Amino acid sequence: MNIILNILTHGDERIGLKVASEIEKLHIEKDILTVTIANEKASQLRKRFVDQDLNQSFPGKKDGNYEERRAYALSPMIQEADVVIDIHSTKSELKDAVIVTKLDTATKKCIEAIQPKHVLVMHISKNTALISQANIGLAFEYGKDDNPVALENIVGDIKRLFQHLGVMKGCPPKKNTVTEYFDIVSEVVKPKGHALLKHIKNYTIVRKGEVFATNGERELVAEEDFYPILFGNKNYKDIFGFKGKKVKVR
Ligand SMILES: [Zn+2]
Repeated sequence: MNIILNILTHGDERIGLKVASEIEKLHIEKDILTVTIANEKASQLRKRFVDQDLNQSFPGKKDGNYEERRAYALSPMIQEADVVIDIHSTKSELKDAVIVTKLDTATKKCIEAIQPKHVLVMHISKNTALISQANIGLAFEYGKDDNPVALENIVGDIKRLFQHLGVMKGCPPKKNTVTEYFDIVSEVVKPKGHALLKHIKNYTIVRKGEVFATNGERELVAEEDFYPILFGNKNYKDIFGFKGKKVKVR
């Protein structure tokens, strides 16, 4: 078993450092667990990225910009690992979301062991995200950087995963979470000066025809039913977040 715990894909998401130091206390053998820092330079600068979002840069380019070269260097290692865990934080009220780029049987079994509140199947970054290169790739976005509860939940859920994978003794303790799955199919553009209406919340459906954002003059109307995912006014530069569709998983 070869597991990678990757942190700082986004250099300003410092929660990864805390997760790594908690996980190191478990003393998992070094030939089983490797901790990697994906975007060293952005992390030193405390920025999300240097030239472009590393999490949209895979599989990378040999002679590309900084992130393209990082992706190119990381790809073989990620492809070789059995499981890749990628730690993120978010400014939106996301609450315990595991992000995947595919939902095959092995990935689904890991998710069933973790039992997160939400699973986001990212179709729009299925070839460019770091986890897209992995056999089993699981990104954790559980909350804000400085939130101790998010940290505790990530660490607890990684332990559940380790028990499932057999690298840690014991069975995951019972949890009463019912996991909801969402397909992430498209981005929602944020025109200049527009802000979300106050009642728009992540995981709460927006109905076709409903106004969800305005600049005081012009209103944005939903063209179809969707669940706002990773939504917020300040999460991203040009988009509010993503459109999710709820899916039933058997
Ligand atoms: Zn991130």
